[in-house]
Amino acid sequence: MKYIHSEANGQLFFETETNEYLQIPSYLNGFRNEETTIETAQSGRTVLCFRGSLSIEEEDRVCKCGRRMHINAHQNITLRHLCFGGNLSCVFFPHNQFKCPDCGATKSQFISFKAPGHRITRELYQYTRDLLAMETYTNKQVAEITGLGKNVVKAIDKKRLQERYTMDGKEIIKPEKTTKILGIDEFKLHNGRKYATHIIDMETGHILWIVNGKKKQVVYDFINHVGLEWMDSVEAVACDMNSDFQEAFEERCPHIQPVFDHFHLIKNFNDKVVSEVRKDEQRRLYDEGNIEAAKALKKTRYILMSKRSTLQKKDRDAEAGRIIHRGSTLFGTPDVIRKAGYEDKYDSLLKENALLFTLDLIKAKLDEAYKDTVEARMAEKNIDIMDICEATGNPHLLWFRKLLDNHFEGIIAHATFQITSGKVEGINQKIKTLRQHGYGYPDDEYFFLKLFDASRRSYVRNPKSHRICD
Ligand SMILES: [Zn+2]
Repeated sequence: MKYIHSEANGQLFFETETNEYLQIPSYLNGFRNEETTIETAQSGRTVLCFRGSLSIEEEDRVCKCGRRMHINAHQNITLRHLCFGGNLSCVFFPHNQFKCPDCGATKSQFISFKAPGHRITRELYQYTRDLLAMETYTNKQVAEITGLGKNVVKAIDKKRLQERYTMDGKEIIKPEKTTKILGIDEFKLHNGRKYATHIIDMETGHILWIVNGKKKQVVYDFINHVGLEWMDSVEAVACDMNSDFQEAFEERCPHIQPVFDHFHLIKNFNDKVVSEVRKDEQRRLYDEGNIEAAKALKKTRYILMSKRSTLQKKDRDAEAGRIIHRGSTLFGTPDVIRKAGYEDKYDSLLKENALLFTLDLIKAKLDEAYKDTVEARMAEKNIDIMDICEATGNPHLLWFRKLLDNHFEGIIAHATFQITSGKVEGINQKIKTLRQHGYGYPDDEYFFLKLFDASRRSYVRNPKSHRICD
């Protein structure tokens, strides 16, 4: 088989002895393929190298001053092109440099099929972008399919997301619609010391704002971004109690009611009360020489922080021989446990320790309170919980009592604005997943765009489960 060049359109031809031919649309306007060599890439993959020349357009060599420019020099250029099955390809040709005999200005020959900023053809650029837009493959997989470097794939993906979600590449797009409830939350960035904040539409789960930092300024910037008129539609904002965010919202938009959702309240309770009480108790048991009991308290963090109903379910699963996954983002890395008996262990822990029993009671009462849809009733339940905390005299529970007291209004507002934690937890899960796939570091801007994008896609937990088994 030999290659011939068509004068008509510059496309590649494969000609056989019987004069039948296969035309491959190469979309490389002006490129003449004169020879094709077979080479091997560093990765070991075969590269079809299309060698040839690029015709010069007369208007391309006209100088700004109007004179016709000379060809000054030429350097060979290689551009990566589309794959042929598993093989890679590239085009190789001399790239002319023009110089004006009059004013001395120089310029490079224009290559219509070169992707700006990359040593690849527009065709390969578009193909890579299409693969990325499918949202099926990770960047690493796209790099393997196209034979491009990881950084090139990332740059193409970042550009794609910028075009979709930013205005002129920098500022994030305005919200697509108004919302009644916003959610704001901070999260740790890659090194664990820096923080970032996201603001989401609690109705759709879409991220509307995502930036570095966790100061009030984040809120001011968001309000400036969407405008006060847009903020008029917002009735409530769900946030953590340990942040300045609600103050910032109240300063600029006094009509907005902060709501402290169940998710954040339980997080505070687990982190600041359950953990601390458990540590204190362990220390006390050690001091009293009750080593066995102290040891029993070790590794009980998960059990103590779970709901009784969750433990019961896990016990049932274990009995049925299923593998048990240690739950959500609240408890850190998922773990696989095959033993049952969670509830029994929980009960024996409670029997040994009255304070732990109180924690259990409070958690159950919080659950109950957060189910209420009448503010007055929720207020009563909240006061009841505060009384229980007070009665223990335990410093951690007194701290929690104060937390409830200081945020009373925002807690009972939950009865009016029923806020499910699903949206916030969904975002946390996406942060985790993206990080696992290596998107979290070092480009924050890209990471934020990926999250912005991920929040606009519906979350399919296990796509395989929809398939019919054969
Ligand atoms: Zn000139």
